Amino acid sequence: MNIELRRFFESDGARQDFEYEFTSVDGIFSPISVKGFIKNSAGIVSLSAEARFTVSAQCAKCAKNISKEMCVPVRHFLINHLNNEDNDEYILVEDMVLKLDELVMEDIYLSLPSRFLCKDDCKGLCPICGKDLNEGECGCKKEIDPRLAVLQHFFDNDDE
Ligand SMILES: [Zn+2]
Ligand SMILES: [Zn+2]
Repeated sequence: MNIELRRFFESDGARQDFEYEFTSVDGIFSPISVKGFIKNSAGIVSLSAEARFTVSAQCAKCAKNISKEMCVPVRHFLINHLNNEDNDEYILVEDMVLKLDELVMEDIYLSLPSRFLCKDDCKGLCPICGKDLNEGECGCKKEIDPRLAVLQHFFDNDDE
């Protein structure tokens, strides 16, 4: 959705509420529903909205397919000429047309975690036999990483 901003910059008190849905070209998201408003309050034009959607991803540890409901805040001050503030909160809209979908997608990408887990304490897969350890132990002998063994030695000596 594109929003014509001229009237917001020109009149103190102008406000528009919006609620709509768009589909991202990136297939990992369900349709994204956006709800919020733009207003001019005492000469300051601001955007305040929330984007809700479901992400489909794989658990980074056990590779199970998961879907997560997410809600990302989209809050910015809108300006039509550069000011001295060097701040991501300020969005420069020189041509007076706000491309809201693009802005929402930027905020969504910034807020996505670097990896998804099916649950916080996912045990992952056994590196030896590949069994999903959430379903129980597999009986493989876990070898101690030699680097960890060195570290362990270091800590043991530290006590003396
Ligand atoms: Zn998992
Ligand atoms: Zn195993």
